[in-house]
Amino acid sequence: MQPEAFDDTEIAFRHKSDRELAKAYWMFKLIAWPWMVRLGSRLVDLALMLRIPVHWALRWNVFEHFCGGESIEACAPTIKALDQHGVGTILDFSVEGKESDADFERSFQEILQTADTAAGDERIPFCVFKVSGIARHDLLTKVSDGAELSKAEAAEFETVVERIDAICKRAADGGTYALIDAEETWIQPAIDDVTLKMCRTYNQERVVVFNTYQLYRHDRLQALRDDLAQAREGGFQLGAKLVRGAYMEKERERAEEKGYPSPIQPDKAATDRDFDAALAVCAENLEHLAVCVGTHNETSSATMARLMAEHGIEKSDPRVYFSQLLGMSDHISFNLAALGYNVAKYVPYGPLREVVPYLIRRAEENTSVAGQTGRELQLIQDERARRAKQLQLAG
Ligand SMILES: Cc1cc2nc3c(=O)[nH]c(=O)nc-3n(C[C@H](O)[C@H](O)[C@H](O)COP(=O)(O)OP(=O)(O)OC[C@H]3O[C@@H](n4cnc5c(N)ncnc54)[C@H](O)[C@@H]3O)c2cc1C
Repeated sequence: MQPEAFDDTEIAFRHKSDRELAKAYWMFKLIAWPWMVRLGSRLVDLALMLRIPVHWALRWNVFEHFCGGESIEACAPTIKALDQHGVGTILDFSVEGKESDADFERSFQEILQTADTAAGDERIPFCVFKVSGIARHDLLTKVSDGAELSKAEAAEFETVVERIDAICKRAADGGTYALIDAEETWIQPAIDDVTLKMCRTYNQERVVVFNTYQLYRHDRLQALRDDLAQAREGGFQLGAKLVRGAYMEKERERAEEKGYPSPIQPDKAATDRDFDAALAVCAENLEHLAVCVGTHNETSSATMARLMAEHGIEKSDPRVYFSQLLGMSDHISFNLAALGYNVAKYVPYGPLREVVPYLIRRAEENTSVAGQTGRELQLIQDERARRAKQLQLAG
């Protein structure tokens, strides 16, 4: 397959009406200006702090585009619309930055609910969570550093492990998969350690638990190979979600500030090289693992499809999934699904006020570089032009 296979905007946007497409066009047009996103995110922070109601503006604009709703029930129309075109849903409770145990308990209960909702519903093949959503950042840093924990901290960490175990068990019992997101390098060793233990426990007969490998780190291709060797020797299956990585600036800044070598690859080409090498490792070792390819990159998506063909892997093989975020790269998701590949989109949800950090990240990601039209905006423009031409011909 070539990346051009994703150029069919008719397939990419057939789940969107003209009105929805026009709305998406103006939203991307608005966030294409970096100053607008900077100003907008400051104003939203301020308005929320002062309790000025800006919900209607956010809801109409970015929230409806990038999120499924404020609750699992509210995501029902999105789940249905994706399913109508062969695309699955991954319900992602996207509340971030909490630090109290009451909040962690609430997130934990909510994640259990996403696992229960996925159980027996073929439209929702995975549940997903971030460990930092159910554990204190400082505690995860301390565990990752190998620092000695106080008695209270040790008990607190035990609760975190019990919560992770309960979610994985719920996914195993419900016949679904659990994805565990990757986060910053200074908390990732604790996450990796617990996740690998969960793989040993729950991935005996089939893959239930997936760890995430961020290939923008120069050591993750080797980590994938090491974990695969452990799975082979330990008689369990590995679940591997492959992503490039979302915290590059933060990682580089911290490394410089604290004076240690950056964990990030020297350049984008090195990240791309390792990402595609990791795809090959997965395609070559499917008898020991299942893979979820989490990317908006056309070349990497096409590379995986090509590797599958080369290794005689069926397009609908349940051990290979492609995944994108709701509201982004529909051209990849819907074209892959139309060709018969397994695809599921992250559908973030949560109370509007609490998913603002997620929305700001999406807006920042879609600002244009040096005046270029962003890739999402270009695709929407192409589809609107195609529809207008079709209408003209019909008239
Ligand atoms: C379904 C899904 C799940 C995800 N889960 C996670 C997760 O658990 N943890 C996580 O961290 N992220 C996650 N992400 C985000 C992901 O890591 C990327 O930030 C995002 O997808 C953009 O990368 P890309 O592969 O789509 O494409 P591209 O646009 O081709 O790549 C952009 C990425 O390349 C890397 N990059 C850019 N410039 C450089 C440079 N100069 N040097 C080195 N590397 C560079 C960065 O990682 C950047 O995000 C997820 C994304 C998806 C679609």
